[in-house]
Amino acid sequence: MTTQAGMIKSADCLFCKIVRGEIPSKKVYDDKNTIAFLDINPATPGHVLVVPKKHAEDITKAGEEELSDTIVVVKKISELLMEKMNAIGVNVVQNNGKHAGQLVSHLHFHVIPRYPNDNVIITYQRAHLSESDLEEIRKKLSQQEKKDMDFDF
Ligand code: AMP
Ligand code: ZN
Repeated sequence: MTTQAGMIKSADCLFCKIVRGEIPSKKVYDDKNTIAFLDINPATPGHVLVVPKKHAEDITKAGEEELSDTIVVVKKISELLMEKMNAIGVNVVQNNGKHAGQLVSHLHFHVIPRYPNDNVIITYQRAHLSESDLEEIRKKLSQQEKKDMDFDF
């Protein structure tokens, strides 16, 4: 079920159901604000999803406190994967919005351990922008920060 704004309600959210224990999961971490469990279709063995317990559709909707707690758990899980799974690297992937590949509308971080010769491909084509194009974008993005950024270098 969705609300008028098209948002999935917490009662119907897959990851909220996992948080409440209504759907089973392979949990690897659980504290007051955050859980982490194995992705059911892992990119590599040990692929973990780190999820704030409080429902937020994506990173733009999440409270700063929940987000801070979540990212600290992402760090812990990354360390665990290196130590216990002998990962030689870790990709942290986080999708927001269906156009960015988000399938489950409850904020989550993928922590994907990397191994020699694994088949993971995380890539995008890189454009070359002119200095003036870059500057135009920089100005657009730094509008609200203008006062804070008036440093004398
Ligand atoms: P995203 O595309 O970023 O929304 O990723 C959602 C992820 O959730 C996918 O990698 C799925 O494999 C994973 N997933 C879906 N259902 C479950 C489930 N019941 N338990 C664990 N992981 C799941
Ligand atoms: Zn949810």
